[in-house]
Amino acid sequence: MKQTKYIFVTGGVLSSLGKGIAAASIGTLLKNSGLKVSILKADPYINVDPGTMSPFEHGEVFVTKDGAETDLDLGHYERFLDEDLSQLNNFTTGKVYQAVIEKERIGKYLGKTIQVIPHIVDEIKERIKQAATNQDILIVEIGGTVGDIEGLPFLEAIRALKLELGKANAMNIHLTLVPFIKAAGELKTKPTQHSVGELRRIGISPDMIICRSEKALDRDLKDKIAISCGVDRSCVIESVDATSIYQIPLNFLKQDILKAIASLLELKNLKPNMQIWDSLVKRVIAPQNELSIAFVGKYIDLKESYKSLTEAIIHAGAALDTRINLKWIDSEKLEDVEDELKDVSAILVPGGFGSRGVEGKIKAIQYARENKIPFLGICLGMQLALIEFARNVLKLEDANSMEFDEKCKNPIIYLIDEFIDTNGKKQLRTKKSPLGGTMRLGAYECKIKPNSLLSKVYAGKTVVHERHRHRYEANVKYKEDFEKHSLVVSGENDGLIEAVELEKHPFFLGVQFHPEFSSRLVEVNPVILAFIKAACNYDNA
Ligand code: GLN
Repeated sequence: MKQTKYIFVTGGVLSSLGKGIAAASIGTLLKNSGLKVSILKADPYINVDPGTMSPFEHGEVFVTKDGAETDLDLGHYERFLDEDLSQLNNFTTGKVYQAVIEKERIGKYLGKTIQVIPHIVDEIKERIKQAATNQDILIVEIGGTVGDIEGLPFLEAIRALKLELGKANAMNIHLTLVPFIKAAGELKTKPTQHSVGELRRIGISPDMIICRSEKALDRDLKDKIAISCGVDRSCVIESVDATSIYQIPLNFLKQDILKAIASLLELKNLKPNMQIWDSLVKRVIAPQNELSIAFVGKYIDLKESYKSLTEAIIHAGAALDTRINLKWIDSEKLEDVEDELKDVSAILVPGGFGSRGVEGKIKAIQYARENKIPFLGICLGMQLALIEFARNVLKLEDANSMEFDEKCKNPIIYLIDEFIDTNGKKQLRTKKSPLGGTMRLGAYECKIKPNSLLSKVYAGKTVVHERHRHRYEANVKYKEDFEKHSLVVSGENDGLIEAVELEKHPFFLGVQFHPEFSSRLVEVNPVILAFIKAACNYDNA
């Protein structure tokens, strides 16, 4: 088996500095240099996974192909690396403890007292090594900030691992903030020095410092950081605020980051081919065309919860050389639909949970349907498109989703009585079923109806696999009725409805899956691309 080299990424001073993007950017450069690269995020919080966390707590829950509900950084990793990651690529303190306790219950530790050191730390090390299988490089991002109590076992694990692995097989990158103090007109290095001091106290010396800042760092400042943090001058990398996150790999490359990494890890010939990336980034930053689409959601003050979708739209914009301006519409406050939606080139209703804001979304869908404006409904968006149609075209009284009204007369969207548990087994849903991990999660097959819009979207493919995250399903009982009125089912999985579309409409598509989860800068998801293309072709004059 080949020896994987590890890059450990920690963060200091503040959270939200973009450690995930920095890790993903380095991964992109290494992958495009011909190496096999993977990234792992270790999250020190106690939840077993972020699946049960509110978007207010956590932003988006990203779903991997194999159905793991993970941190949103995994989305960045996939979008930058253009690789499918798995449940091995993200774990939390909760997951680590759960595994250790399960082993303890069945006597695996032969009567020993179970302790943070060595048992918890060993479990963390094992999980890191598992994710490294068959990789040239594994980048390991430790969530949180140095100094957090809950992060200590993770830092201890990477400290010990680096020692075990030996020189040239592991390096530490520490990402910090270099704030600009307006009153003094200066960038300040003290927080970086303190943060590195904190790292050293627990036995970790950084090999490279990435400095997040609003302004470029001059030579003297970089020298000061190098000396005070004990790293080589070539290992002080700045990460200045960028117009697009996709610029970051290129900004790192300009500073010769690969030369520094190559020398620390004894790697040869790191010459990445970034041509395609570079040309796409140019189109993200300064495209030829521009248009607006309405994004009708309920978390519009919380755009992080739609991260994969907003990124997928950027990917489509780059492919089509168009800037897509999002008109954020709070579905809860949507009253004058005509006034809000008359100037957009397309209407997007994303996924969501709970009844808040649902009626506004339904109004927006009706407007898109009746005025022949390109429409894409994703997950809840598709479910609501069916409800809108049932109410306004089929004139079905009390048409609703059982998610919002358990006893509605016409449950257009209903609860199927099975779910797949975390061990991949089919389980019957009961009132007592837990919330976590009981949805339809991960990639499922979607059989495409020939000659449909969906078939055109996927360039004639008859089967595709897309990722899911939902508890409710479209009720097949109404399929015939819908189809008689030209709302046809164009995607199916074993009797489950995966996609619906409206005939005699330029582009009206609802998908039960989340196409945004598999979109990449270099390979846009076909549904998102086709939707944005329809918006480009729409003339709203
Ligand atoms: N709330 C709906 C369900 O659980 C839709 C979920 C979603 O949009 N991700 O089925």
